[in-house]
Amino acid sequence: MHIRKQRLLTPGPTPLYPPAMQAMMASDIHHRTQDFRNIYTAALADLKDVLGTSNDVLIFAASGTGAMDASVSNLFSPGDKVVVCSAGKFGERWVEIAKAYGLDVTVLKAEYGQAVSVEAVQAALAAEPATKGVFVQASETSTGAAHDIQGMAAAVGSTDAILVVDGITGIGTMPLDVDGWGIDVLIGGSQKSFMIPPGLAFLSVSKKAWALSETATLPHYYFNLKKEKKSADLGESSWTPATSLILALGEALKYVKSLGMANLVANAQLLALAMRAACTELGLELFAPDSPGSSVTSILAPSGMDSGVIVKELRTRFGAIITNGQGSMKGRIFRIAHLGYFDFWDLFAMVAALETILYSNGIPVEFGKGVAAVQRVYAYAAIPTPIAVP
Ligand SMILES: *Cc1c(COP(=O)(O)O)cnc(C)c1O
Repeated sequence: MHIRKQRLLTPGPTPLYPPAMQAMMASDIHHRTQDFRNIYTAALADLKDVLGTSNDVLIFAASGTGAMDASVSNLFSPGDKVVVCSAGKFGERWVEIAKAYGLDVTVLKAEYGQAVSVEAVQAALAAEPATKGVFVQASETSTGAAHDIQGMAAAVGSTDAILVVDGITGIGTMPLDVDGWGIDVLIGGSQKSFMIPPGLAFLSVSKKAWALSETATLPHYYFNLKKEKKSADLGESSWTPATSLILALGEALKYVKSLGMANLVANAQLLALAMRAACTELGLELFAPDSPGSSVTSILAPSGMDSGVIVKELRTRFGAIITNGQGSMKGRIFRIAHLGYFDFWDLFAMVAALETILYSNGIPVEFGKGVAAVQRVYAYAAIPTPIAVP
């Protein structure tokens, strides 16, 4: 009986940037033409610019996992000793990929909601000097926790190992200084902070990582970094590219450049801060309180309530799609995304809807309390001479 606008508010796919969607309509273009080479070359250059690195940056037609797979199959050999920091479902994916390719994996495990410490990485590297690589998520999207990538890069940098960072939701939500910190491989995906649909994976490759690729013997075919680099230098991709997504990426990157990567990060961080403030006001508990990231805020459902009820009612009452917990976290947590094309308007509405749903399920809430917390964060951050706010 009420109008419910459909809203995609998950931590990937994220809300789409409208000019990028419109750009996709120009995809009646052939990829082996100068017109497309110009577009592809510009997209690669802008991606490098936005990632703030002088390392090579390569794009694959794949979801983010494709670039994770490529980083293992191109840089390592069977039996290589590697360390995986696993703090959630995506850390577990690193373990699965590394094991699938026959690497000798040491897993540094953190409980869901916690992060793996830099000290644990240092200790693992000291215990096994032959370690060839360390794998980690910058932001563990399944729990909302973030890792200290700068600290880990410092720990790994003084060894022969390379640091491979799944930055798929870290990019655009936290500072990641690829060259300054020494991140050897940084992986991203189109459907997260880049505000376009799923289907592109990309990664930056350092000199240290390229050197490792020279001795790597694992088989690979479609995901071939060296071949892709040769193609990219000629303005092409090795295989047929996802033309429409490259057009969209070009448009989205223009927007991110105009905004500034630091401001995109600050936007997500401020929204996450405001969401945490709203949780405090509403008596909601954070799932990763010790190292909360800004890609997504994971919140425990009030005791006695299944988080699926919140997810379902956001959809049925308000047309808003958010995510439940994954695996054993399903039913316990719900996740509010902040990465990419999210703004304060979205968050005001989200928190108001959340208050309404808690109320409709018999949880005592004072309407507007959480919203006011978001308003206060906005007022302090964005109103030049704020009137006195309580
Ligand atoms: C989304 C995501 C991925 C990639 O998943 P795909 O489904 O392959 O795109 C990997 N790591 C993290 C941390 C993610 O959030």
